[in-house]
Amino acid sequence: MIDWLYPNVCPCCGKYIDHDADFCNDCKNNITPYTGDSVPRGLDGFAAYCEYDHNIDDAILHFKKDPDGNSYYAFACGIAEALRKNGIIPDIDMIVPIPITKAKMKSRGYNQTELIARELRFLIDKPYENLLLKIRDTKDQKNMLGKDRSENVKDVFAVDPRVSDLTGKRLLVIDDVCTTGSTLSEAAKVLKTGGAAKVYAAAFAKTPFRKRGQ
Ligand SMILES: [Zn+2]
Repeated sequence: MIDWLYPNVCPCCGKYIDHDADFCNDCKNNITPYTGDSVPRGLDGFAAYCEYDHNIDDAILHFKKDPDGNSYYAFACGIAEALRKNGIIPDIDMIVPIPITKAKMKSRGYNQTELIARELRFLIDKPYENLLLKIRDTKDQKNMLGKDRSENVKDVFAVDPRVSDLTGKRLLVIDDVCTTGSTLSEAAKVLKTGGAAKVYAAAFAKTPFRKRGQ
């Protein structure tokens, strides 16, 4: 019945899949697991589900353009799996999605990362809260190098003034894709200034680290 009412599709190829599946078997087998162990600056731990390569391109494009009921669920499943492997879950009090600006929220109507957080809370049994605000726009980071990315996201976040004390809280910041980690580092900086004891981060996909000069 659920399948008939809300047919579930694979975020990569669009094939129909079971209502509780994340990807179809073929696409899932092609996903490259993330095996890196680098932790972006200022974070206490980092987990990612897969490498951002051509196998997952379509799913990420689909998610960014028009996330349907399954792509954010599939991304949350991936993040949950990465967190389980990493052992971070018992050390987390709350999930914090990377925010978008108020203007973008108005034009788009939703924050994609928050959609992942809404699913992830059930998968790892932790609450989520929009603790951060994005207080100015950033340029598209796609073709930027590490140093430019850090500059681009500098002071872009603030703790929402309506949020009560963060002292001693252990937080998990989540994003769909992590490239250099500068966005996550910036979020960690603001949350720790606000009193957080620990800030972890997780992303669905991680691009390979670029070497200097590339
Ligand atoms: Zn598929």
